[in-house]
Amino acid sequence: MQLRTVIHHRFRADDAAAGPEFVYVATSAAILGLDAHTAAIVEGFGGADGHDDEAWLATRPDRELAERSLHDLIDLGVVRPVGEPEAPRAALPPMPFPLATLVLNVTNKCNLSCTYCYEYGADRLTEGEGSKGAGKPRMDDDTARQSIDFLLRSSGDRPQVSITFFGGETLLNFPAIRAAVEYAEPRAAALRKRVHYSLTTNATLLTDEVVEFLVRHRFGITVSIDGDQQEQDRHRTFQRGVGSFEVIAPRIRHLLATNKAQKGRAIGARVTLTAGAAPAPKTFHFLCSELGFDEVGFAPVTAGLGRAYALGELGYERLLREFAELADGYVAAALRDETHGFANLNDLLRELHQGVHKAHPCGAGLGLLGVSTEGEIGLCHRFVESKDHGLGNVATGLDEAQRTTFLQQAHIDRKTDCRQCFAKPLCAGGCYHEAHVRYGDATHANLHYCEWIRGFVALGLRSYARILTQNPKFFARFETS
Ligand code: SF4
Ligand code: SF4
Repeated sequence: MQLRTVIHHRFRADDAAAGPEFVYVATSAAILGLDAHTAAIVEGFGGADGHDDEAWLATRPDRELAERSLHDLIDLGVVRPVGEPEAPRAALPPMPFPLATLVLNVTNKCNLSCTYCYEYGADRLTEGEGSKGAGKPRMDDDTARQSIDFLLRSSGDRPQVSITFFGGETLLNFPAIRAAVEYAEPRAAALRKRVHYSLTTNATLLTDEVVEFLVRHRFGITVSIDGDQQEQDRHRTFQRGVGSFEVIAPRIRHLLATNKAQKGRAIGARVTLTAGAAPAPKTFHFLCSELGFDEVGFAPVTAGLGRAYALGELGYERLLREFAELADGYVAAALRDETHGFANLNDLLRELHQGVHKAHPCGAGLGLLGVSTEGEIGLCHRFVESKDHGLGNVATGLDEAQRTTFLQQAHIDRKTDCRQCFAKPLCAGGCYHEAHVRYGDATHANLHYCEWIRGFVALGLRSYARILTQNPKFFARFETS
């Protein structure tokens, strides 16, 4: 029988050294250890045409052992008959899928005018073709309350729901945030549900009153900040062109100190990476060691073709080298059983350890929806003003037919470009908004950053192997969350 190895990625803790070898199996998201026999099989049956099993076994010095190993790999789905279709995956979970997270765009105004901002820059959805127009600048309290009711009644029997506040600059509409929280608490309690709050802010409006409120309600807080003064002020300026670092630095220090004193949840920095940015390890060091953030996540800027601030191919290559340096720090900490604030790698290792196997790249449209200032529902916060991606209104309800149609079209099995990619269990084609900006089609695979994604997943797998072979108990933390 003609057999072939399924899409996979082989890796070791250190590519340059001998040592245990592993394989990441893209059809199941499993990580398996390889010995000399199974490695020879993965190798021998590689290639599009595979190999005849009898012919291959006849070449093996210990046929009995080789046959046993081959059957083991067939049972594990690593080797399959050529032409046999993959086991069909569910097109969709049972619909209507219960909602877990609602992202409330409480304002679409901002007091900064960052040059790369998708909300206000050249790639915005809030004006022009494909948009509904800028909408109301602020969500009123009634719409915030209606959104909470919508979330609670759409969440099925989930014991916990999440409300994420977003903008514009989210804190420009602190009254709506407070109204939503005060409304959600008793209603959720009556339904025996817990509510988890989170918010993203540029930190310019973190007054004592706001900080006290956020910490008291145990908000998960993400601060958008690009690094030290030079980095921050390159793109993140007030409308009159003045950099924002001097305003935000003392406010962030106050937030972090208050949160630490009250044992609040981890607070993260989110760095937008643009062309010419400082090295990521330098920025990481500044944000964690000097400002005191608990974790830092880096996100390459979302940009249409030809934007000067976009990371080009060389920018992604450089970033991968810098991420490898940060990964060394993460692994060293993991071997001491300590946490490390490199959020990108932490999230990836959690997904690898949990065997995450995505049919859709993120929760948008599935467990997560966005709400505009006017109560219009969108796939996520980035789509709420888009007339092509509207999914109803919090007052009148969700358009389930539209939601289902989108999710069917966005399923990984429909993305033929991704079929041969070992990273698809984790990437699943990438962010819908990024695809919309780049290709004018939210369901398109983000082919412009495949090398970057595969490079980062490969780095994650190497890091996983380094920790697994030296301190496997580190991963217990990913089994309880
Ligand atoms: S978008 Fe690229 S990296 Fe992502 S799954 Fe598809 S082919 Fe792989
Ligand atoms: S579509 Fe993109 S921006 Fe929206 S939730 Fe998914 S990954 Fe995030």
